Amino acid sequence: MRKKTVMIHGGISVDKATGAVSIPISHASTFKQDGIGNFKYEYARTGNPTREALEQLVRDLEGGVAGFAFGSGMAAISSVMQLFSSGDHIIATDDVYGGTFRYMTKVMSKYKIDVTFVDTSDKDKVIASIQPNTKAIYIETPTNPLLKITDIKAIAAIAKENGLLTIVDNTFATPYWQNPIAHGADIVVHSATKYLGGHSDVVAGIVVVNSEKLKEDIHFIQNSVGAILGPQDSWLLIRGIKTLAIRMEEIEQSSSKIAEFLQSHPKVQKVYYPGFTNHPGHDIHKHQSNGFGGMISFDIGSSELADQLLAKTELFTLAESLGAVESLISLPARMTHASIPKERREELGITEGLLRISVGLEDVDDLIEDLSNALQ
Ligand SMILES: *Cc1c(COP(=O)(O)O)cnc(C)c1O
Repeated sequence: MRKKTVMIHGGISVDKATGAVSIPISHASTFKQDGIGNFKYEYARTGNPTREALEQLVRDLEGGVAGFAFGSGMAAISSVMQLFSSGDHIIATDDVYGGTFRYMTKVMSKYKIDVTFVDTSDKDKVIASIQPNTKAIYIETPTNPLLKITDIKAIAAIAKENGLLTIVDNTFATPYWQNPIAHGADIVVHSATKYLGGHSDVVAGIVVVNSEKLKEDIHFIQNSVGAILGPQDSWLLIRGIKTLAIRMEEIEQSSSKIAEFLQSHPKVQKVYYPGFTNHPGHDIHKHQSNGFGGMISFDIGSSELADQLLAKTELFTLAESLGAVESLISLPARMTHASIPKERREELGITEGLLRISVGLEDVDDLIEDLSNALQ
């Protein structure tokens, strides 16, 4: 099956009991056993039919051995981190999602799991950060909001040589455009709140693993910790994923036009978009991904100008989050990345005048008009 078909027919796409082509939402918390230990489902934290249909769908989308659905992206990421023990060390991309940075620095530190943040687009820096107790390399590509690119294959090769796990947050690229497991990753995580759900109406997280051992380990953690996704939200995600391919295709067209427009506008100082041939990592991204995605960041020089622009856009809604049908705009320094200390933000290049947009499904000419009016 090709990708577009997997979106519709992957996982369990027809209900066995009724033939329903939309998987029923199974609310039961417990299930009758035909004798002790003789059951298909036991208790809904351990397994639920609606969640299972979603989990098999995302497994098929990412080309892994097993999928798991969690109550949020952070529930998924923090559950994966429970693979590690006190005294372990992890290497992570230096501009990871703000919530991931907060979790790794404020919560994991309590369990004495050390994280070194490095520019993972630089292989030598990754190699230099490996310690005897290093257990994993955790990357995001493209990153948020500067859309930095890391070579998944190169990182996975370094990890394999050193006996480390490669974990990739694939939220921005989506499994429609990029499958890290095909490039050697062991674990893929998603904030399914974004493109997978796609309609700004569900908070969810996904983990897909590439071995029987990791399948067992993550299932054990999911069942022990209990940060599962509920049946209603699982159903919403299945429904969202059915149109992921078609949404990403449309978003791709619009984003490249919007990026070109911004690039040619005299008031815009700098545009970050992996589709530009001069974007750092453009060639690597093209090699490991089939699309550039719907995220564009641009710098208009100061927080005053950014405030003025934000007050003037009508179709780009000022909001956190991304990846939905409606176009969104945000100011990372004071929103998504506010929890990162100012000095660190500046080091990374997340300036006060940097705006980030998530391109939605509106008519691209209306979106360009909206930006054009606001910039004027
Ligand atoms: C939003 C996001 C997360 C966190 O996901 P939640 O669903 O909000 O918990 C993690 N990684 C990336 C890249 C994100 O954009």
